[in-house]
Amino acid sequence: MRAMRKRLREPEAPVERYETIRRFITALLEEQTLTAREISVYARITERDVSGHLEHIKKTVQKNGRRFIVEPACCEHCGFIFRKRGRLTKPGKCPSCHSTLIRAPMFHIQ
Ligand SMILES: [Zn+2]
Repeated sequence: MRAMRKRLREPEAPVERYETIRRFITALLEEQTLTAREISVYARITERDVSGHLEHIKKTVQKNGRRFIVEPACCEHCGFIFRKRGRLTKPGKCPSCHSTLIRAPMFHIQ
């Protein structure tokens, strides 16, 4: 099915488009450590979409025996580190000092 689609050249087919974006983001993160916002600028998608792709990329990368590294978000005000946060999105405010000056998590693939 997929091979046929490719021959018909449907560049907007959602599945293919996602795979292309994910490959692109994976390549970026193999080279650099980036925030979701930076990825969103490079890939020209929204930050929310980046988070969804990252969840998927993380699984793929780990399946291939490589490491998806998340540098956790931290509070710019008191230095609190959001270590236990499972989600890949940026937290809204610091649970320790309630500051909203949060440094976003950063991502890298090894
Ligand atoms: Zn804080």
